[in-house]
Amino acid sequence: MNRPALSVVIPCYNEAACLALLHARVSAAARAAVGEDYEIVLINDGSRDESWAVMQQLSAADPRLVAINLSRNHGHQLALTAGLDLCSGAQILIIDADLQDPPELLADMRRTMVEQDADVVYAVRRKRAGETLFKKATAAIFYRMLDRMTDTAIPLDTGDFRLMSRRALDALMSLPEQARFIRGMVAWVGFRQVPFAYDRAERHAGETNYPLGKMMRLAFDAVTGFSTAPLRWASHVGLALTAVSLLLIVYIAVGWLSGSAVQGWTSTMLVNVVLGAVQMFVLGMIGEYLGRLYIESKRRPLYIVADVAGPVQGRATLGF
Ligand code: UDP
Ligand code: MG
Repeated sequence: MNRPALSVVIPCYNEAACLALLHARVSAAARAAVGEDYEIVLINDGSRDESWAVMQQLSAADPRLVAINLSRNHGHQLALTAGLDLCSGAQILIIDADLQDPPELLADMRRTMVEQDADVVYAVRRKRAGETLFKKATAAIFYRMLDRMTDTAIPLDTGDFRLMSRRALDALMSLPEQARFIRGMVAWVGFRQVPFAYDRAERHAGETNYPLGKMMRLAFDAVTGFSTAPLRWASHVGLALTAVSLLLIVYIAVGWLSGSAVQGWTSTMLVNVVLGAVQMFVLGMIGEYLGRLYIESKRRPLYIVADVAGPVQGRATLGF
């Protein structure tokens, strides 16, 4: 198989307004880095706007552009997985479609990869322009909590923007799970991985496709995918409550023996309410893991491809 030197993989959801500029800037950056020896892989993740039509037009005019149309919205991480499956480059650049991650950094990232003899160069956000205080704060808290809970060292303030070697990508693609937190999975894979600091730009057009709900889901996938700490906490809470209830039993027994036992709606209710809440919380936590176990056990394909535009002959890995 003749591999291009570079694949640029870009998941897109409702990004029609960004695609033309994205294509121009990514092409220029790729050409500056490797000449004509590159490919761009766009994944349309079930967009509700004109993204797929625009992608088809772009790919008709550019033989280096492959566009994949997924059968519906599969979510950022699975759309990215589809592109990573399909791409064939010796180096792989993952980048967002909204131009928050400047493609022009490619040259520096490639230099860093060579100089530091790394398999992964991951971009760490120094500043994040045009994002709400809420998003920045929740992201900062999330990355730090995740770091404390997991055994895998997942880099702080790092998205999926990164340059990878083919062997690191092949290792990544050997992980079969459905609930994918790709930046964590890349960290798990190992090899030499080095940070690359950059300032995150504002979105070129449109608005974020990561509302609170999706962010929480990604956070849950990250935590449950890389840590069983919450299950451990569940048993710790159980132990602590057992200790407290032992004390309570002594207290109740003393009250009964001394004949002053009748009393307290307040304390009974308190115990009821607190215990009820803690039990539901712990059950919910166990349920999160159980649900994921169930989903994984079905072994469904990660994504379904509906159409492909561009040069795809000779690709072995199309998921349909
Ligand atoms: N994305 C996707 N599927 C989705 C949501 C997002 O492919 O269901 C893509 C989106 O087009 C973008 C990247 O994932 O290229 C990051 O999304 P976004 O910019 O909305 O997230 P933010 O930068 O606000 O965290
Ligand atoms: Mg964005």
